[in-house]
Amino acid sequence: MIGERLTGGCLCGALRYEADGEPLFAGHCYCADCRKASGAGFIPFMGYPAGAVRFSGASQTFISKAANGNDAVRNTCPTCHSLVFGGVRGQSKSFTLYAGSLDEPARFYPTVAIFTRGRPDWAIIPPDLTAHEGQPG
Ligand SMILES: [Zn+2]
Repeated sequence: MIGERLTGGCLCGALRYEADGEPLFAGHCYCADCRKASGAGFIPFMGYPAGAVRFSGASQTFISKAANGNDAVRNTCPTCHSLVFGGVRGQSKSFTLYAGSLDEPARFYPTVAIFTRGRPDWAIIPPDLTAHEGQPG
């Protein structure tokens, strides 16, 4: 829906974001790194162009190598340590917002499941998602 705005942030409220318009993509990532980073079976994510997202509050980054060889930069709140978004503030052309941090999480509509290869059986893939064993082409 044009004009739609999503808001969200960390557990303590110090790190916040606003995102305008439809996400470029939305899904669940089942890769081992997302499991470790979140302590959960997958990370629900939404991709936005950098121009559509605004952040406020301090963030702390952790960088690991992604499956595609690029740096995966994950941002947490320095106070409460919630995992909030991926990307480099002021640099990245797009960001991934982690949908569990939405103020209204029911407004997240995932369509794809990625890196499903190697996921544990208990990390369930909803039947309406298009599943990819790795990164979709
Ligand atoms: Zn916080």
